[in-house]
Amino acid sequence: DRDVFALDWINRQAALGEPWFFAQAPTPLEAPYPIAFNDDVAALLDIDAEAAREQGYAETLSGNALPAGTNPVSHRYGGHQFGVWAGQLGDGRAITIGDVRNARGQAYEIQLKGAGKTPFSRFADGRAVLRSTIREYLGSEALAALGVPTTRALAIVGSDAPVYRETAETAAVMTRVAPSLVRFGSFEILFENRNFDALAPLADHVIGQHFPELAGIEDDGERYRAWAERVIALTAELIADWQAVGFCHGVLNTDNMSVLGLTLDYGPYGFMDSFDPHWICNHTDAGGRYTYDQQPHVGLWNLGRFVQAILPLLSGEPDAAVEIGQALLEAYRGRFDAAYMQRMRAKLGLPDARDDDRALVDDLLRTMAADGADFTRTFRALGHVSAAPAAANAPFVDEFVDRDAAAAWLDRWRARLGGTGADDVARAERMALTNPKYVLRNYLAQQAIDRAADGDYSELHRLHAVLRRPFDEQPDNADYARLPPDWARGLVLSCSS
Ligand code: AMP
Ligand code: MG
Ligand code: MG
Repeated sequence: DRDVFALDWINRQAALGEPWFFAQAPTPLEAPYPIAFNDDVAALLDIDAEAAREQGYAETLSGNALPAGTNPVSHRYGGHQFGVWAGQLGDGRAITIGDVRNARGQAYEIQLKGAGKTPFSRFADGRAVLRSTIREYLGSEALAALGVPTTRALAIVGSDAPVYRETAETAAVMTRVAPSLVRFGSFEILFENRNFDALAPLADHVIGQHFPELAGIEDDGERYRAWAERVIALTAELIADWQAVGFCHGVLNTDNMSVLGLTLDYGPYGFMDSFDPHWICNHTDAGGRYTYDQQPHVGLWNLGRFVQAILPLLSGEPDAAVEIGQALLEAYRGRFDAAYMQRMRAKLGLPDARDDDRALVDDLLRTMAADGADFTRTFRALGHVSAAPAAANAPFVDEFVDRDAAAAWLDRWRARLGGTGADDVARAERMALTNPKYVLRNYLAQQAIDRAADGDYSELHRLHAVLRRPFDEQPDNADYARLPPDWARGLVLSCSS
């Protein structure tokens, strides 16, 4: 039989080479075994998932036996971590084995995360632990199913080889898939090292592959300005998406910011349970730099670092470049606000846009925060309420302690909708397609991780299946939409992975 990984390997990164991409083979992983293989991502790559499971994918996706035609590299990048330039970082444990073009002409980078040391490992071991690969696998697939741009997860391969973090854990390799894994930091390292000549080839690589509509702009400055404008818009839209589903990234350093506007690098991220705009999902972020309500501002700050890094591309004249860069960044706030309000109006079921909608949204979030109402359940419940004046306030007010405050807000919402209830059915259907019933609550991920640590992957698979259909009622899985148990409050996540 034909090897299922005998694909159309085009390996654009290896072709570009240094100083952006460095040849690096994976380090063999001891006795790898299969843990998860994702049909949805396999389909993107024209891989027959069933055949892959039958053939076995652990040797290939551990990096022990790479398919013919691959050409593995690690990528050099830098980044601002918690607001401070951190110098060179790079793929310290991720190796892109190549990229593949599918029958639709789409290309995807295929990367093994946890595949061993690279020139960028610094003092670390180049490995990933099972816990963090499960979190990335489930987190990225959950966001994808919610319609949020993200890197994807093809597979997890495990090993009993020990990996030491706070305690001894075991190794795993996650296969990450994305059109490109180039980051803001990929450009920053070139700028900070004054390697200005290396900016254009990387930008042209990204534009040529991922912004083909801009590639034909002949004037260099014009082309790069149009591209920067796109990166700013994509970032604004991505962060609006996060806000709308109550997702906190947790480590929004510029090395974790995709130039394609994808959610990238899943560490101590969290979907919010009880709504707290100041919630710190990452225990390492003591100052609260990356809380939910900071994400939109952080997006702009990070774009500032990106635009600074590509200033030499925007104009040959430094003062003009700075002015152009500032003008580009000024578009961010409007882009974000428009994208955010579009999503929040949909969540509230508003059929059109009015000026005071922002106050209605803000006051709902304030009421939710005052009570610590569950983010996901509250919006889902709103879809089950009638807009008719005397209609029942349940189940919406059931999500609040202060039911009167919730009911008062509901009165305003009803007034905004015209208060007849005539559109109830159609609106409920629309709202159910934008307010998910199921999100990856931290405690759900933790349950899957705890079982997997004992060699039982059934909960991982079941949870993934639930999260693939977040907007469907799935009555048999309603337990996954309940309020988290008390022990969930004690869960602490850090950057350790
Ligand atoms: P992260 O916090 O996952 O975004 O990683 C920040 C930087 O540390 C990146 O350059 C990673 O490649 C690197 N890194 C994280 N964990 C390891 C590890 N176990 N071995 C080598 N490099 C690592
Ligand atoms: Mg990272
Ligand atoms: Mg990560």
